[in-house]
Amino acid sequence: MSTLKAVRVPPELEPLFERAEAYVRSYFAEMNADASRGVIEFHGERYIRVRAASISIEFFDLVRSVYQGCQDADEVARSLLFDVAHAIGLADSRDFQREMGVTEPLEALSTGPVHFAYTGWAFVDLSDQSHPTPDDDFLLVYDHPNSFEADAWLEAGRSSECPVCVMNAGYSSGWCEGSFGVALVAREVHCRAQGHEACRFVMAPPHRLSERIGAYAVANPDVPIAPGPLAPRFFEQLRRRDDELVQAQRMEAIGRLAGGIAHDFNNLLTVILGCAEQLESALPEGVDRRNAEAIVGAAERAGGLTRQLLALSRKQVLDLRVVDLAQVVSNLRPLLDSLVSSHVRLVVGELVAAPVEVEPSALEQVLVNLVVNAVEAMPDGGTLSVAVQSSGGTVRLRVQDTGVGMAPEVRARMFEPFFTTKAGNSGLGLATARGIVGQFGGTLEVASEAGRGTRVEVRLPVASGAAPATPERRAPSGSTGRTVLVIEDDDSIRAMLARFLPHRGYVVHLASSARQALGIAESVEHIDLVLSDVVMPGGHGPAAVEAVRRHHPSARVLFMTGYAEQQLEQLPADAEVLRKPFTLDTLHERLAALEDA
Ligand code: ADP
Ligand code: MG
Repeated sequence: MSTLKAVRVPPELEPLFERAEAYVRSYFAEMNADASRGVIEFHGERYIRVRAASISIEFFDLVRSVYQGCQDADEVARSLLFDVAHAIGLADSRDFQREMGVTEPLEALSTGPVHFAYTGWAFVDLSDQSHPTPDDDFLLVYDHPNSFEADAWLEAGRSSECPVCVMNAGYSSGWCEGSFGVALVAREVHCRAQGHEACRFVMAPPHRLSERIGAYAVANPDVPIAPGPLAPRFFEQLRRRDDELVQAQRMEAIGRLAGGIAHDFNNLLTVILGCAEQLESALPEGVDRRNAEAIVGAAERAGGLTRQLLALSRKQVLDLRVVDLAQVVSNLRPLLDSLVSSHVRLVVGELVAAPVEVEPSALEQVLVNLVVNAVEAMPDGGTLSVAVQSSGGTVRLRVQDTGVGMAPEVRARMFEPFFTTKAGNSGLGLATARGIVGQFGGTLEVASEAGRGTRVEVRLPVASGAAPATPERRAPSGSTGRTVLVIEDDDSIRAMLARFLPHRGYVVHLASSARQALGIAESVEHIDLVLSDVVMPGGHGPAAVEAVRRHHPSARVLFMTGYAEQQLEQLPADAEVLRKPFTLDTLHERLAALEDA
């Protein structure tokens, strides 16, 4: 026989709720009320008493009078009360979890209804139709036989066309959201203020509430569902936040992030590309050049990644191509090796050739995000496996680790942009990865358990058509014998250009600042070409170039930029611009074209 007094639940949940009740009973056992200080406390925590009708029927009446009978009045009142109560429930739940030291979601939830009873909101009778799991399937069906809100209406001798227990709905869904880390809302389906026997509620994640209420109506046909809006405004906000707003915030953050790293990153890539190219061309005939080519290829793909980040933030349409997923993965192998720290073993398993229609650099970004997460989840070492399989029209890219795994609360929020459990991380990895995969018409599934590792599976539809071969790179043309002034603050890029340009027959002057550039311009007799960075500490590329051209008006100018749209705005409209990272072949072509012009 159950000893529960403050709540009624299905038998299998009774032991859990008995513990909760014992705890909450002792919490509220002693009230410390001191009117001389205007303070009421339970368990050292301050509480306030509010007359129930004032925030129910009397509040509705107030809003109706302000809105002078406009139909929106009830909707406004409902939304406000629901929102406020949801926020209070969420905060109370978190506070209680801290107090009690509970982390297990069901345990945290179980104190909710008991707390509810002890604070006088309502008694809760939890139906066995409930299914409280910390995911999309969360469902709670429960009765309040005597909610303070319905009572307020009945005592005033009034009835309502719509359900009135909005604070109860808001508070209880806020509490459960705080316990489970899953966005939740509740809607009253039967209300005593409408003449029903009990107030009954259905609680679910916002995007599933209408489906859940529909299913409830089908399963319980004897009592019609109360009319009225599906859920208060809070619900709509949540939904909007879920799609448009989150999307916009995500894109903006990606844009900021990409803009922030693109400049330095592209400088590095320019050096990597240029040096690898020089290495390659310096190799004698008949020597194996695959390593040098691999560096060039990887650096070009890395440049594609930065462009992709930038493109995503600008909401550009993806440039879809049919490629072999296995090839994409094996091309990325050197990059993956560099991401994996020495104590992690990288196992590249079966790579079954399979055509998919994607933007290769974006797909690479997905893989890199997943690999980085896996590595970060294995601070003490472990195994990371990557594999590509294909069956029944679906290609599967699997990334699996033996790392720390995720607790249910983390799993529930892992796709949220900005959600991170790591100090200093952006929390955008999985959000972006899922977004990109979705744009390719695929899905991204995560299976993970605390302490048992994580498996991520990207599923993409098999594309029709064959994967085209990678394009060939063009050979550089002949030499020129002209004078180039290089203005670039990045030491390694300058050094690389100093080695490369003489090879192509140029006489090179190097300046690392605007001042140096001007010094050179004043002292040398002739300058044909100026190759200048746009943004430099302690000087501004275009201004330096202007100064140089006062001495050498016929010099032609090529600007190098590592992205940032605002950099381009600083340039004259007709300026020649070379985007970093660039290959030396491209640089040579552009310089030659400038001379011909
Ligand atoms: P970030 O890596 O910047 O934190 P993500 O969106 O990539 O952001 O991941 C969100 C959160 O999901 C991480 O902070 C981490 O808690 C969890 N997570 C993601 N991947 C894994 C993994 N492979 N193993 C364990 N936890 C992971
Ligand atoms: Mg990450």
